Amino acid sequence: MRTARVWRRLLGVEQTVIESVELVEERGEEVVVARVRPVRARRSRCSRCERRCRGYDGGDGRRRWRTLDLGTTKAFVEADAPRVACPEHGVVVADVPWARPGARSTRGFEDTCAWLAAHAAFTVVAALLRVSWRTVAGVVTRVVADLAGRTDQLAGLRRIGIDEIAHRRGHRYLTVVVDHDTGRLVWAGKGRDSDTVRRFFDTLGAERSAQLTHVSADGAEWIHTVVAERAPQAVACLDPFHVVAWATKALDAVRRGMWNEPRGAGKTAQAETLKGSRWALIKNPDDLTRPQRTTLAGIAKTNQGLYRAWLLKEQLRAVFATKGDEGRQLLAGWLAWAKRSRLPAFVKLAKTIERYRDLIWNTLEHGLSNARSEATNTHLRVLTRRAYGYHSPEALIAMAMLTRGGLCPDLPGRPA
Ligand SMILES: [Zn+2]
Repeated sequence: MRTARVWRRLLGVEQTVIESVELVEERGEEVVVARVRPVRARRSRCSRCERRCRGYDGGDGRRRWRTLDLGTTKAFVEADAPRVACPEHGVVVADVPWARPGARSTRGFEDTCAWLAAHAAFTVVAALLRVSWRTVAGVVTRVVADLAGRTDQLAGLRRIGIDEIAHRRGHRYLTVVVDHDTGRLVWAGKGRDSDTVRRFFDTLGAERSAQLTHVSADGAEWIHTVVAERAPQAVACLDPFHVVAWATKALDAVRRGMWNEPRGAGKTAQAETLKGSRWALIKNPDDLTRPQRTTLAGIAKTNQGLYRAWLLKEQLRAVFATKGDEGRQLLAGWLAWAKRSRLPAFVKLAKTIERYRDLIWNTLEHGLSNARSEATNTHLRVLTRRAYGYHSPEALIAMAMLTRGGLCPDLPGRPA
């Protein structure tokens, strides 16, 4: 019947026979239920390998899968969910053409949900699709696993950055690997220790590890040791944004020290200016608002120590923007300046930077692009802070791969 084609199209299902479509009253709400079955060629297949297998039993009987709303009305497809006996995977639920194995909603619904999760706030996704946050997290995990199984995330890697990301308020960590050339997150794993880094190199394999030319990190020994062991040919670098972050921290230490000082001496007004100065000092000069510029100008006049600290931070940023030999010369000048700055936080930072000088020289020499990996890094940090209603590292990794790993599905029903 021709209406069957219309319904297949509306429900976003393929290789499916529509048996009937009805409005059904459910918990005080009318919903559309389409009773369906797979076309003959798609019946009795293993949901893991799609191989045709012997039927086993009726499983749990009829099941419903949520599909995209039809206008204002919730819609479901309903079908038998028999089990089959696969020679390789044992007794499993038979594959259905409209949904991923283990899913409670159709592919079209899941792809829409995952796409939205990557592009809108979770509260928006949950309200629009009428699902819980937990459901969204489960959908994202399944969709990402499905897409990851179909592409090689680690193909063609040459220059990578390895980093750690704290989550659960800094109690847990993920180790993440970013491709410097594309800015894409290519791998994420639980933990931050050398075993986690080894797991990445195990997945990458010896042949592809040998193709790596540059590996950047934040100077952490547990990363650099494993890189030396598994990819000894790769040039070790230090990610510039980590170095600039160290300088920002030193600047903040100087600012806090000075804020406490005048307050103690009863100079309340000056203390208040300093208290409000944090963002004026930390932001890149180009991003400053007009009041922040005024604050900074005020600091230059009244507080030379703090202004010197700010200049030191900016100068260090300039080193990495310059690169090459000139960058090296700037760095040498910076070190000399920081050491005699009479600002303990910067004297200490100068020592740290000297310790990592070889790695920093490598970074300057190879002009390792920073903007993309920094953007990815910033994005991941924001991700860990958003209240997603999920807590497992697996869900966080899936969300990261969805938004930064290129594993976001297309919206269904639109030509590519
Ligand atoms: Zn199978």
